[in-house]
Amino acid sequence: MTTAPELTAEPTALPTTLVRPLFERAVAGGAPSVAIYAPATGHKIGDLPQSSIADIDRAFAVARHAQRDWAKVPVAERVAILRKFHDIVLAEQDTILDIVQTETGKSRPHAFDEVADVAINSRYYAAVAPKLLAGRKPRGVLPVLTQVEVVNRPKGVVAVISPWNYPLALSASDALPALIAGNAVVARPDNQTALSALWAIDAAERAGFPRGLWQAVLGRGREIGGDVITRADYVDYTGSSATGRTIAQQAGERLIGYSLELGGKNPLLVLSDADVSKAAKVAVRACFSSAGQLCESMERIYVHEAVYDRFTAEFVGHVKNMSLGGELDYSRDMGSLTFQRQLDTVTEHVEDAVAKGATVLAGGRARPDLGPYFYEPTVLAGVREGMTVYREETFGPVVSLYKVASDEEAVEQANDTAYGLNASVFTKDLARGREIAARVNAGSVNVNDGFAAAWGSADAPSGGLGISGQGRRHGPEGLLKYIDTQTIAVQRVLPIAPLPGMSEQVWAKTMTLVFGVMKTLRQK
Ligand code: NAD
Repeated sequence: MTTAPELTAEPTALPTTLVRPLFERAVAGGAPSVAIYAPATGHKIGDLPQSSIADIDRAFAVARHAQRDWAKVPVAERVAILRKFHDIVLAEQDTILDIVQTETGKSRPHAFDEVADVAINSRYYAAVAPKLLAGRKPRGVLPVLTQVEVVNRPKGVVAVISPWNYPLALSASDALPALIAGNAVVARPDNQTALSALWAIDAAERAGFPRGLWQAVLGRGREIGGDVITRADYVDYTGSSATGRTIAQQAGERLIGYSLELGGKNPLLVLSDADVSKAAKVAVRACFSSAGQLCESMERIYVHEAVYDRFTAEFVGHVKNMSLGGELDYSRDMGSLTFQRQLDTVTEHVEDAVAKGATVLAGGRARPDLGPYFYEPTVLAGVREGMTVYREETFGPVVSLYKVASDEEAVEQANDTAYGLNASVFTKDLARGREIAARVNAGSVNVNDGFAAAWGSADAPSGGLGISGQGRRHGPEGLLKYIDTQTIAVQRVLPIAPLPGMSEQVWAKTMTLVFGVMKTLRQK
C-alpha cells in the first residue's frame, strides 16, 4: 500500500474562466461542494458543486419539460444539430483535450481517442437516425384489411451514469443517440471528471440542442445514484460489474429498461502464425491506453510457445521504452492513474503476484517522482491461479503473459473467466482468425487489433457477455434501446370475427383454410 500523496491548492493549467462557468452549468449547489484535483500533478482543479435532492428534482422537471417539445422537432432538424456538435468537438479539441487530460491524468494520444469516439458516433447517428426512427408498416393479420404501423416513441428522460476513465466519450457518446431519439438526458458524471461532461453539455447547447434537454447532476454514485434512477425512464450505466448489479436491481424494482457496460478481464491471443512484431507493437496500445484504465484493455496475453520468446522480447522492449508524463501535449506514451484507489489496486495486484512467485518483466513500481499516481506499465510472467491478478480486473497498467501449447489451449484459457467484454486474436490467416474469434466468449473480438477496430466501428454494437454487461451501445442497438415501439393497427371493412350469421365453427374452418393458403403462398 502506498501512502497518500500530498495534493495542493496550487491551480492547474485550466483557467478559472473556463472551469467556473462550466461548474455553474451543473444542476447543483444544494449540497456541500467537493475539491477536485488533477491526478498528474496533484494541483487543484476547483471546488465542484454537488446536487441535493431538490437539485435532482429540478433537473428532472426541467428535462421533462424540454423533452416534450423536443420530441416534436423533426428528426432532420435534430440531426442537423448533431452534425454541428460534431464540428464543435473537432474544432475545439485543444480545449477538451486539456480538460480530459487534467481530470484523468491520461496522455494526450489517449485523450484524443475520446474526441475521435465522439466524432465517429455523432457522424454515425446523424447518418442513420432518420431511417432508424422512421417507424415501419408491417403486414397486418389480414392482408389489405388490417393496416399496421409501428411508431417509435422516445422513453422520456434517460439517466446516463458514467465513470471517470473516458469522461468525454462515455458521457457524450451514450447521451447523443438518446437525444437524437427524442429523449432528454440527465447525466450523472463522476465527480472526478465532471468538467468533461459539462463541457460536452455546453458545446451541445452551442450547437443548438435546447437548453435543459441535457443536464448534469453531481454527486457520488453511491449517494445520489438511487435518487437519479428513481426519477428516470431508462438508465444507461457504465462502471464496474459490482455496481452494475445494484443498478439492475434498482431499475428492476421500477420496471424500467437499462443497459450496463461493465468490467472486463480481456484476453489477447497470439497464435503460432502471428506477425509477431506487429502483435508486440499493437499490444502496447491494447494494454496501456489510459494507463490500462480502459474497459476494453488487455490484461491477459496468451502466446503460442512457438513464438513466445520472440513476442516477449519485443513486447517487453516496447514497454520499457514507453515515456511517462503529464504534459498537455502529444509527447508522452502514457499518463497517470486517476486516483489513489486505482494506485492502491495496481500496487496490491502486483505485490500479491510477486509475493506468490510471479516475475516482473517490465515496470512494477509506482513513480511518485512524476506525479502522485503514476505507475509504470507492467508486464508479469508466471502468474497462476490463486494470485489476485489471475482472475480479478486490475483496471490499470498491468498485463500477464501466458505460454500456451496450442490454439485450443489459448481459447480455453481465454474463456476461463466470468467476464466477456473484449478480446483480440493475432494471426496471418484471417479465416483462422475469424474462426478462433467466434469461439472466444466476448462481446467484441478484434483480429490483428486490440480494441479500436471493433470499438471504432460505430455501426456495430459494443457490449459485454457474462458479467461484462447487459445491452449494447453503438450500432442501431445503441439508439433503439432509447425508444419504445407502439403498434397501431387499423382494421378496415370487416372485423376479425365471424361474419354476421356465421357460426364460430364455420369461422374456425374458414380461417384454417386461409392459414393453409397463406402458408402455401409463403405469406408471413
Ligand atoms: P464503480 O462501479 O465503482 O464506479 C463507476 C461509476 O459508478 C462511478 O462514477 C461511481 O460514482 C458510480 N456509482 C457507484 N455506485 C453507484 C450506485 N450505487 N449508483 C449509481 N452510480 C454509482 O467502478 P470504477 O471502479 O470506479 O470504474 C471502473 C469500472 O468501470 C471497471 O470495472 C471498468 O471495466 C468499468 N468500465 C466499463 C466500461 C464499458 O464500456 N464496459 C467502460 C468504462 C469502465
